[in-house]
Amino acid sequence: MYYLLPFRFERLKDKEIIVNEVGDYLITDKNTVDRIVSRKISPDEELYKDLITSFFISETVVPPLIDNYATRLRTKKSFMDGYTSLHIFVLTLRCNQNCHYCQASAKEHNALQYDMKKEDLSRAIDLMFKSPSHSVTMEFQGGEPTLTPDLLTYAVQEAETRNKLYKKQITYVLCTNSVSLSDRVINICNEYRILISTSLDGPEFLHNRNRGKTDSYQKVVAGITKARTVLGEDRVSALMTTSEYSLDYPAEIINSYLENGFHSIFLRPLNPYGLAAENDDWDLYFDRFVEFYKRSLEYIIQLNKEGTFFIEEFAALLLRKILTPFPNGFVDLQSPSGIINGVIVYNYDGYVYASDESRMLAEYNDYSFRLGHVSDKYENIFYGRKAQELAQIWITEGIAGCSDCAFQSYCGADPVRNYSTQGDSYGFRPTSSFCKKHKSIISYIISLLTEREDEVLPIFKKWLRRNEG
Ligand code: SF4
Repeated sequence: MYYLLPFRFERLKDKEIIVNEVGDYLITDKNTVDRIVSRKISPDEELYKDLITSFFISETVVPPLIDNYATRLRTKKSFMDGYTSLHIFVLTLRCNQNCHYCQASAKEHNALQYDMKKEDLSRAIDLMFKSPSHSVTMEFQGGEPTLTPDLLTYAVQEAETRNKLYKKQITYVLCTNSVSLSDRVINICNEYRILISTSLDGPEFLHNRNRGKTDSYQKVVAGITKARTVLGEDRVSALMTTSEYSLDYPAEIINSYLENGFHSIFLRPLNPYGLAAENDDWDLYFDRFVEFYKRSLEYIIQLNKEGTFFIEEFAALLLRKILTPFPNGFVDLQSPSGIINGVIVYNYDGYVYASDESRMLAEYNDYSFRLGHVSDKYENIFYGRKAQELAQIWITEGIAGCSDCAFQSYCGADPVRNYSTQGDSYGFRPTSSFCKKHKSIISYIISLLTEREDEVLPIFKKWLRRNEG
């Protein structure tokens, strides 16, 4: 006789996966879950010992090592210790590009009314310093934030001055399309050790098509080269967005990252915000994205087997949750959700939003996730009525569909995505594109780990060692 401990399960082809509260998993034969819950597993079986040591069953009502288990659960949730660590400052909505899938509803490059006012920026910095987190990231976004070098300089200098009192560890990140990185901006980045996060969608024909310009690729590559020369190789990273057009070119995209000296790629789908919301068939897009992702990951595994160290970052984030006791700090894969708990956005007009996606909805006159204004009190923004409402639906452990999903401890909750795709912040998992994407990719990675362990595990472990620095 044994007692059941909490676990969740899922059928994977002709096997079953069972996952406990801290994300440890076992792959078992079909009908094993039925045997476990019917108390038919015999102490003579090897499986019995595995179930005991991995906290799926216990011979006593409370397992003897329950404190160890509790410590591991606490470690998994330790991303909550510091509360909001990523503070996004939208310095302007102006932009100098014309991307087809633009998610930020960018404005003409000379529309100065879309720049943040200095007094709002100053108040936003005050709010950032009120965050309990010892380490904060101050991320500058747009539009194109390099169009406002005065605001960028002011923000960093103010943060440095005020930090003499607070003594936080501040990381600065400038998100830029890199098409017009001036000497002035590069020098600011150099002086304050600002990291550059740029956008590169793939090879020239594809990048230019996505960006709606014929010379964008050349300018971006020139910008990356210029930034690397002054700041150093490791201070420049790139993000790609997978347009519908990109879906046919997995190998070409990865090759272009290699050719441009990058050692990793983050395969990101389009998000249904801003102009990107006009895409007409999201279901089809996400089905195709999952296939694109699998083809890309296969290609990357092959590259690694041939001796080229190259990481797919989304897989690395998931692997950290699947294979280690640690959280990954990625806002899309957190429960409680990354909104407010991990990230906050100070918009160009002084209003504060729960996430980057929330402020993009606001550009379409939907203020559902507006938390307040930079002139409001910290408590009223971060713990106010809106934040409390969201807190009721931002944990995978408590929402229908996720609460009994085998992949719950690897996944995350996103009320903003639910709202923008399904018109309801609570969401409905069976038709959710967010769920479909995560479930498909997590199952795929688990199947790689079980069916091709000898081939992929050494590669994945190398990726994790890099992430652990
Ligand atoms: S979103 Fe889907 S995959 Fe993720 S925990 Fe919820 S039900 Fe599972």
